[in-house]
Amino acid sequence: MTQGRNPSDCSGRLHPNAGEGIRLFNEGKYFEAHEELEIAWNEEPGPIRDLYRGILQVAVTYLHITRGNYDGAVKVHARSLKWIQGWSDICRGINVGKLRSDMDIVMSEVGRLGRNGIGDIDRFLIKPILWNEKRRWVCDRCGGEMQESNCKVTCPNCGNRFDCSDLNLYFD
Ligand SMILES: [Zn+2]
Repeated sequence: MTQGRNPSDCSGRLHPNAGEGIRLFNEGKYFEAHEELEIAWNEEPGPIRDLYRGILQVAVTYLHITRGNYDGAVKVHARSLKWIQGWSDICRGINVGKLRSDMDIVMSEVGRLGRNGIGDIDRFLIKPILWNEKRRWVCDRCGGEMQESNCKVTCPNCGNRFDCSDLNLYFD
């Protein structure tokens, strides 16, 4: 396991400010996203705060890129890796695996364009975060609300269940 992260930290709900931060991130409001994620990071006592910090730094990296600040982007991106790595690909409903690979593509393009060419970056490369915003699972058998714990989603009414690894289908 990378960085000693515990996959069970990925179950449960997002801090509400982290959710708001991701909404703003996906609107391209990277500065405002950073402010919300900072609140979540400060208030969250558990290990998941590292993930909030990582996404915060991705937001700041993208902010620097959209402002043409090559040195800032490279510096904050390097810092972000420590916090964004080691998590399950799907963590608290966030597709962290895709966020990492999207950022890799953006940063290799930033490196190719260099300090003088960063202003020419194709904004289409900067992708939104895929996530299951509501983090609610409705049972397809009885319509009840399902409960999620340690990557197992179970219906308390009828016993219907599925596994965390099946959650990928919610992002297709
Ligand atoms: Zn059910």
